Amino acid sequence: MRKLGMAEIAKINRPKLGRQVPLEVFRLLRLVGIRGGLPMGGKSVTATIGREIGKSLGCRTMEELLQLLQAYRIAIPDVLERSESHLLTVLDDCLVCKGMDNIGEKVCDLEGAIIEGAVSAITDKTVRVTEVKCN
Ligand SMILES: [Zn+2]
Repeated sequence: MRKLGMAEIAKINRPKLGRQVPLEVFRLLRLVGIRGGLPMGGKSVTATIGREIGKSLGCRTMEELLQLLQAYRIAIPDVLERSESHLLTVLDDCLVCKGMDNIGEKVCDLEGAIIEGAVSAITDKTVRVTEVKCN
């Protein structure tokens, strides 16, 4: 199977409905389909999906990744702490959880895995992302 990247999927020709879809559609895929429909809330699937997406973004620097997260409206990242081996960031306006009621669990593991894949590709090192707080 041929892998697809941003260059291929960004080719959009939808003259009637356009490029935008309601956020509810993404949340249906992520929270109802993946989280609700797969074993273990789809955690291993979101980890795999997120890392693959992160690697495919083609970011060369952390700054590029942070800008891209906002440009694609995934979230508005704000770096709180940064060192050679550690990054603590807040993702404001998260596309998965922002505005939802607190359901007592963290649901933004996909976004963490995207960052994990992207940072791993940027640094060429094994990277581990942990979602500390959600919504
Ligand atoms: Zn979130």
